Amino acid sequence: MDIPQERKVVTEIPGPRSREWFARRAAAVPQGVANIHPIVTARASGAIIEDVDGNRLIDFATGIAVLNVGHTSPAVVSAARRQLELDTHTCFHVTANEPYIALAERLNALAPGAFPKRTMFANSGAEAVENAIKIARYATKRTGVVTFDHAFHGRTLLAMSLTAKVMPYKQGFGPFAPEVYRLPFAYPYRCPTGGTEQTCAESCLAYAIDEMHKHIGEENIACVILEPIQGEGGFIVPAPEFVKGIADYCAEHGIVFIADEIQSGMGRAGRWFAIEDEGVVPDIVTSAKSLGGGLPISAVTGRAELMDAVHPGGLGGTYGGNPVAAAAALAVLDQIESEGLLERSRTLGAHLLERLREMQRRHEVIGDVRGRGMMTAIELVADRGTKEPLDPATGTRIVQEALRNGVVVLKAGTYDNVIRLLPPLTIDEGLLDEGLEVLELAIATATG
Ligand SMILES: *Cc1c(COP(=O)(O)O)cnc(C)c1O
Repeated sequence: MDIPQERKVVTEIPGPRSREWFARRAAAVPQGVANIHPIVTARASGAIIEDVDGNRLIDFATGIAVLNVGHTSPAVVSAARRQLELDTHTCFHVTANEPYIALAERLNALAPGAFPKRTMFANSGAEAVENAIKIARYATKRTGVVTFDHAFHGRTLLAMSLTAKVMPYKQGFGPFAPEVYRLPFAYPYRCPTGGTEQTCAESCLAYAIDEMHKHIGEENIACVILEPIQGEGGFIVPAPEFVKGIADYCAEHGIVFIADEIQSGMGRAGRWFAIEDEGVVPDIVTSAKSLGGGLPISAVTGRAELMDAVHPGGLGGTYGGNPVAAAAALAVLDQIESEGLLERSRTLGAHLLERLREMQRRHEVIGDVRGRGMMTAIELVADRGTKEPLDPATGTRIVQEALRNGVVVLKAGTYDNVIRLLPPLTIDEGLLDEGLEVLELAIATATG
């Protein structure tokens, strides 16, 4: 479906048909499954969502980082359609399928590290995280799992236990999985160990290593899991050398280092995997979100000796590596390669950061601008001196104002004061700039 790549607002937003659907939704779907935007999609293509009222919205959310190659990318749709007509499901454990094996080979080749690797598939990011931890525990015969402040790893029991933020992800859902230990993350704008932007990595690293040694014990730690750039936690780019220091410590003590690249991977941060820019080779890497280009699939890729440690039958699931989703994922990887989207993520991302820095000069409320590649965000503050987070209601007004003018954006952050930008890597530069202008106007309106 080819929709003109243009913003077009034809009704108030939400329009009457979206409102009708939302009345039905309220009576049929629990409120716990929240909606950020009260609109209903009719169709989508490239960087545009068309709602049921005919409004065309510039999409800076991409289904939470899922459409790096754009909505309904023709190559992805046709690969999925071809596979749909061949075989939709036999379950990999019953009879294998070609896309599963071919996709495993591709990810083994793409993931960092010049050693033999293996890949297994599941359906969601949370499941990939759960499996990565199961494998690390099995292979090390240790139980401890180290995670970080501001982390998001999903909503299943173990993944939720690893996730940092209580509201809305954990409130009321305990008891949580045991043997999960949380350390501060080197967040340079708000260094949790009292460092400056320059000393944040060093002080957080010293704190983390002391904590792992004194309070957990290296010989009890199966794995450390971290997001090379934190996603839901607020697009936090760790202070340089922090991740490297943690990875080196893991290597020294036989701790499995897991990079959760579910949001940062597949070109979002300018590389196949954001960890590449840290000079770190993870033992295991998790992928999901943009891997399937909209179809649900997640992957765990890791060192062969770790991945093969588990006995036959110890891993898997009914739908993992579904052939339609795997065929779509192969087309996503092809498109990233053939269209040079890693390079494009870096160049367009540099342009985007520049634009955001200009905006920061005009708007006091923008305390920090950060990101890498097309994984960028602005952090909003009530006061640049104290860095007190902007109240969530004002941030929400910005998001709503942008939507009213035809641009879909998302917030993030432990303090709910970050606006993250996740346009497709394929977005036209003019459309990107237009979306940024709408966002800037929304900031001016909501904070003026
Ligand atoms: C979204 C996300 C997850 C969870 O993925 P789901 O598919 O929602 O289960 C895990 N880790 C990171 C870094 C994520 O961004």
